[in-house]
Amino acid sequence: MSYRIKEIYFTQQGEGRNTGMDAVFVRFSGCNLWSGKEKHRAKAICSFCDTDFNGIDGINGGEYTKESLLSKIESLWLSENKTINVVLTGGEPLLQADQTLVDHLKSSNIYIAIETNGTIKAPSGIDWVCVSPKPNTKIVQDHGHELKFIYPQDSLHPDEFESLAFDNLFIQPMDSVNYIENLNLALEYCMANPKWQLSLQTHKILGIR
Ligand code: SF4
Repeated sequence: MSYRIKEIYFTQQGEGRNTGMDAVFVRFSGCNLWSGKEKHRAKAICSFCDTDFNGIDGINGGEYTKESLLSKIESLWLSENKTINVVLTGGEPLLQADQTLVDHLKSSNIYIAIETNGTIKAPSGIDWVCVSPKPNTKIVQDHGHELKFIYPQDSLHPDEFESLAFDNLFIQPMDSVNYIENLNLALEYCMANPKWQLSLQTHKILGIR
């Protein structure tokens, strides 16, 4: 089995509960809710994506085996004394990230976080599961550590997810031409609904990847 990877890079987690943690980001190519092509965006199930996940042409992108992916992750990790923290993201990482890969990374004591749209069940053994629900989809991965709701969405409301088994509930303003308006709406929502906390994309504020 080989894995098609858009890019792999070392940075800090910019959003959600783990903001500020060193991490190697592994961005898988492809998503089940949008082709990634602008000409398909208007009719995509998910039309507000802010990520380029197409192809394998990003930094350290390519086709990897589980062994070569582990080696690349280890080569990018700078701190010798800390457990390696990897974030599997996309696109939709669960189209490719399978039990074989998770088991292989865990056998090297890697801390694994995943960022998924929740439409595919995650393999067991992942240390931190973050689900970001999208409209007109069925959430299959209905439990985890963090639910991150991109706000506002026309046909989806945070209420629908409060009863799911997530340890943390985050509202994150949608990054669009209306960002300031979205930020204010997100702030208002969190202040009126204390179960929810605000998540900001601090990597964008800082201008880092
Ligand atoms: S589900 Fe995530 S990766 Fe896929 S199109 Fe939507 S925002 Fe982008």
